[in-house]
Amino acid sequence: MKTWQQTAQQLPVQVRPIQGETTISYVFRLADANDLARPTILLGALGQPTRGLTQFLIDNYDVRLNSLALQRLETFTGTPQGHLRTVLPGLHHPGDALPEEIPAIRVVKAWNLRDYCDHCTARLPGRQAVKTYTLYFPALCRKHSRWLATKTDLTHTPEIITAHRRHGRLLASAGDRQWTYQQLHRASWIVSEWARSSYRAIPRLHELWQARGKLLTGLHTPFNPSNLLVYPEAIALAEIFCDLGWRRHVAMVRELEMTNFYRRIAARLNQPQDFVDWLSRPSMRLRRRGGYDWIANPLQQWITQLRHTHQKIRTKFYERHNGFSPTPFPETRHFK
Ligand SMILES: [Zn+2]
Repeated sequence: MKTWQQTAQQLPVQVRPIQGETTISYVFRLADANDLARPTILLGALGQPTRGLTQFLIDNYDVRLNSLALQRLETFTGTPQGHLRTVLPGLHHPGDALPEEIPAIRVVKAWNLRDYCDHCTARLPGRQAVKTYTLYFPALCRKHSRWLATKTDLTHTPEIITAHRRHGRLLASAGDRQWTYQQLHRASWIVSEWARSSYRAIPRLHELWQARGKLLTGLHTPFNPSNLLVYPEAIALAEIFCDLGWRRHVAMVRELEMTNFYRRIAARLNQPQDFVDWLSRPSMRLRRRGGYDWIANPLQQWITQLRHTHQKIRTKFYERHNGFSPTPFPETRHFK
């Protein structure tokens, strides 16, 4: 009789799954805490596997479970399926193409896996590595103030920890994670371009990034910014990009009224009036080895694209209202 054919029972020692952990990582830790000879024994006890199991799977793989295998995991862990599902992203995917009449598991390649905070891991029972999905949300250990992707200590840069919290809130409040992620990606790129051009042009921000870079381990300078270096400003800009009210403003107002939008960004980044003026310029100067180049201001490109997308709605509006009407703009939902 195979182990997955035997009756499942709750294991004597329980470990708590970590948010974002792979199912394999969790099952291996559970096996380790219960002194099983090999971690794969417990994995194989979940269901009939589609391939041979080795402990090296933890590095780049995860498993899909059919419903009978998931029931067995629930029994082994003594943890309700609903909770397991919210914590382990691998369980979001159904075990499709697996037989339904027996417990079965499929080993699948997993991308974007990271080691969990080694400070936290050191305090867990057992000596297993912990693997978590990065997904769209950078992992940070709040307890140890560490950015997990690069194991950077954030003790002296609390604004990055605050930005991470805002990032989480932004994703949680968004109905559409993919769309929100795109806005953030764009904002991050724009702020990185600003950083590259910030020398002398926007001195206050340049100094801020210089100073922050020195507080982070590794090489972080505005001339070649890492995502981490400009993270707080990128999140601030992404929040504005995701605000449908501001999107409508940018899409609908006459050019002259765009200043309100620049003021909003400047206020959010705590920057003075000359930053407002700088944002309104179509191009900016980029320092390169041996001289300068002029490049298009990436915020202006973003504005142009958004206005282009909503050109029809804008033209119609001004034709109809002639600019003197108190009629409000169309509802914000149109401007996503
Ligand atoms: Zn930690």
